Amino acid sequence: MKMRKPNKILLTLSVGLFSLMFILSSDNLNAFQSAEEIKDRMNDEKKVQKSEQEWKEILPDDEFKILRKKGTEPAFSGKFNNFKKEGVFVCGACGNPLFSSDHKYDSGSGWPSYYKPIDKSAVDTEPDNSLFMRRTEVLCADCDSHLGHVFEDGPEPTGLRYCINSLALDFVPEEELESGKKQASAENK
Ligand code: FE
Repeated sequence: MKMRKPNKILLTLSVGLFSLMFILSSDNLNAFQSAEEIKDRMNDEKKVQKSEQEWKEILPDDEFKILRKKGTEPAFSGKFNNFKKEGVFVCGACGNPLFSSDHKYDSGSGWPSYYKPIDKSAVDTEPDNSLFMRRTEVLCADCDSHLGHVFEDGPEPTGLRYCINSLALDFVPEEELESGKKQASAENK
């Protein structure tokens, strides 16, 4: 019985040491966030909150697979890949304005590409280590729907390439934005 106690201490120490080594050697370092960051995250309530069942009922199957199941449409298959109209690309799930045609460019990748979002707060990013790759996922900041990924091989001035699924987007043409603005200003008079 007397021998058991030191063994137990040794075991606890070993487990602790291994856990520490695991944490320090992996991406789990990201888990060390400042209290401020954690507080911000908790306060960052999503404007649009729906259950997956509700999204399934609202969205067509192909859009649901991309937006809510983090799918990827085949390259060169999307309706916005070669699309050159002026306007704003909004979230296909909740309508949040995400990208402007002003920042769209032809990356040759087969997916609509933008060098920046319409506003910094329009999208969120998350590390994505699936499929044996290290990528950065892009999500709608308002409803957490999956949009695509962002890579660091884009053009100036940002050097970023937001590689987005057409199926995750809807488009509002410039004319409609203009008439919307006029209507709003007329109503405010
Ligand atoms: Fe959204």
